Amino acid sequence: MKNLAILGSTGSIGRNALKVVDANPTRLKVIALAAGDNATLLAEQAQRYQPAIVAMATTDGVDRLRRAWGAAACPLIDAGRDGLIAVATHPAVDLVICASSGTAALEAVVAAIAAGKAIALANKEVLVMAGALVMDAARRLGVPILPIDSEHNAIHQCLHGRKVSDIRRLILTASGGPFRDFSRDALERVTPEAALRHPTWQMGRKITIDSATMMNKGLEVIEARWLFGVEPEDIDVVIHPQSVVHSMVELSDGSVIAQLGITDMRLPIQYACSYPDRWESPLPSLDLVRLGRLDFLPPDLERFPCLRLADRAARSAGTLPVALNAANEVAVAAFLAGRIPFTAIPRVIEQTMDAHDDARIASVETVRRADDWAREHAREICRGLELKV
Ligand code: MG
Repeated sequence: MKNLAILGSTGSIGRNALKVVDANPTRLKVIALAAGDNATLLAEQAQRYQPAIVAMATTDGVDRLRRAWGAAACPLIDAGRDGLIAVATHPAVDLVICASSGTAALEAVVAAIAAGKAIALANKEVLVMAGALVMDAARRLGVPILPIDSEHNAIHQCLHGRKVSDIRRLILTASGGPFRDFSRDALERVTPEAALRHPTWQMGRKITIDSATMMNKGLEVIEARWLFGVEPEDIDVVIHPQSVVHSMVELSDGSVIAQLGITDMRLPIQYACSYPDRWESPLPSLDLVRLGRLDFLPPDLERFPCLRLADRAARSAGTLPVALNAANEVAVAAFLAGRIPFTAIPRVIEQTMDAHDDARIASVETVRRADDWAREHAREICRGLELKV
């Protein structure tokens, strides 16, 4: 039996993780749950799975959770960053599924590694912000970091314990998002509603916009660099609209190993839970004949400059990726609020990166300081760009 903590249990990955628990009741047990804002759903989940501890992002959230709970006996309830840490480090937990969005989970993941917990990582920000710090700590303590992000999960499966020296390059596949074939002019007029409709994956709002700008793939390049210890110049991105090949590894002899599967996040989540074993799953088989064809195209860095910006950040081992990530979050929020156009997102990020003083990362505090600085700077740029309605 593996005992789980799920950070972000009410989000898309968190709900799928609970479906994997439902499908494997004799193998997986929920010990701890944390959610951002959805108190009603967290109360339902907690009543069903009976965890020992739950946490919400804010004290207001905790109040709403207690009200949603009613008279039934409550487990331990905590709030904020400390709450996330308490959930991730609960003594009974073996594996922490980190599926919270944004940067809040960084300290919790660092604390969980220090406590010797295995990490199943769906959140990109943790490695984008503090990849060297997190991977060094995991290596030192012999803690596995198992990727849930479908591309990295695919690469983990392709590598299957092979040495870094066997890798010639990693090939990350990208759906290309809903605007893959849009002209520059058409991209200028993209609305939040259109950007939120993704062709192949059902995901949260922030990551869906990142997919439309292709920043999602850019963040994945940075993530892959740290997870697999590969130089950024040895990581290629290829557009693959069908999202069937989830990623590939080219080995030193030129052999290319690919992982294919249906587009369902339960697959990588279950792999992270079962690793190094394989469990049966209720998912349907991949029907290649019905698919008929798989296409591969080069990404267009002119129309999707976020890829170029992420590649630039990936070459820094310092705080530049922190600035990229923070500016992106601010710009995406401004776009979703209708305050800046879609094509301003990369402009906000580039100007923030240009102004950023790339510093060596000594601790999580260095990361937080760079993150705060970049958010403030990006907000300032957004205010200057604001659409006059
Ligand atoms: Mg992905």
